[in-house]
Amino acid sequence: MQRIFSGIQPSGVPQLGNYLGAIRNWVNLQANYECIFCLVDMHAITVWQDPEKLREHTLTQAAILLAAGIDADKHILFNQSAVSAHARLAWIFNCVARIGWLNRMTQFKDKAGKDRENHSAGLYVYPNLMAADILAYKATHVPVGEDQKQHLELTNDIAQKFNHDYKVEFFPQVEPLIPPTAARIMSLRDGTKKMSKSDPSAQSRIELTDDADAIALKIRRAKTDSEPLPEDITGLADRPEAKNLVSIYAALADISAEQVLQEHAGQGFGPFKAALTEIVVNAIAPIGQETTRLLQDESYLLNTLRSGAQRAQSIAEPIVSEAEKLVGFLK
Ligand code: ATP
Ligand code: MG
Repeated sequence: MQRIFSGIQPSGVPQLGNYLGAIRNWVNLQANYECIFCLVDMHAITVWQDPEKLREHTLTQAAILLAAGIDADKHILFNQSAVSAHARLAWIFNCVARIGWLNRMTQFKDKAGKDRENHSAGLYVYPNLMAADILAYKATHVPVGEDQKQHLELTNDIAQKFNHDYKVEFFPQVEPLIPPTAARIMSLRDGTKKMSKSDPSAQSRIELTDDADAIALKIRRAKTDSEPLPEDITGLADRPEAKNLVSIYAALADISAEQVLQEHAGQGFGPFKAALTEIVVNAIAPIGQETTRLLQDESYLLNTLRSGAQRAQSIAEPIVSEAEKLVGFLK
């Protein structure tokens, strides 16, 4: 069976964009692939994380994934730092990848901005750790949003150079799985910025643990303009906030943006936001409730992650040990 590796950073409480761009898709992939779902705490600390918050977010994130329908018995759910193979392979890849390759990564440029010199070295080599995450399991497919496609290409470059340098056919090439509805959800406060769990403003995102009242309030306060909804999507071209609310509606109702406009053209944002609230609450609130229930049993969550880590380790250990032998490390 083909194997998937996917990761999410415990850098905050997962938000609607994570759900629509990743988690919902992961749930569906379980039917056709052997899936390894990883809470990538080592990636999270590439930017500062308060230790207590990191622990809390890792547990919340595990609970959310289980609540959303991840099956941790049939598949694997664990936190990255619990399996040392990731760090060991990442170090080898730090020595395989070229500085020039990393310099081309747009996510680093976006995250570091102008203040490059003051960011962690970890943020810079983040793509090498991501390559290690995937290749430690010889995953065949990786579900990625648009924002991660470049990193996956780098993973393939690293695999190829490793094979070439050590004259082996060891690491396979991996294929991206671009979700069928690759919605990129934007901030509720600024339609040009993506919704993100680490954005300082909690008003900018709907968190998967928000209850119905919190969701309603955030949608009511979401930035919009005063025009009614247009008849077709060309009318949304210069209206990023309006476009975003229409995309969220479309993604959750599983219809196209055109269909949303057919139903709501001419409506102002008052009634449209009310309809949107209903659809978001129906999709998200049950996940939040189940998450709250699961979080009451911390030892269950810890045991689930521990069992996942053991099974992940048993797949990764032989692969990474072999890579270390190929490099010439005495074993
Ligand atoms: P951070 O701000 O810490 O980077 P994040 O919200 O961007 O957090 P990640 O952990 O980086 O979340 O990404 C997890 C998954 O969610 C990835 O597959 C990513 O492509 C997807 N994702 C993140 N934000 C969005 C968004 N706004 N719309 C659609 N998909 C998203
Ligand atoms: Mg991100």
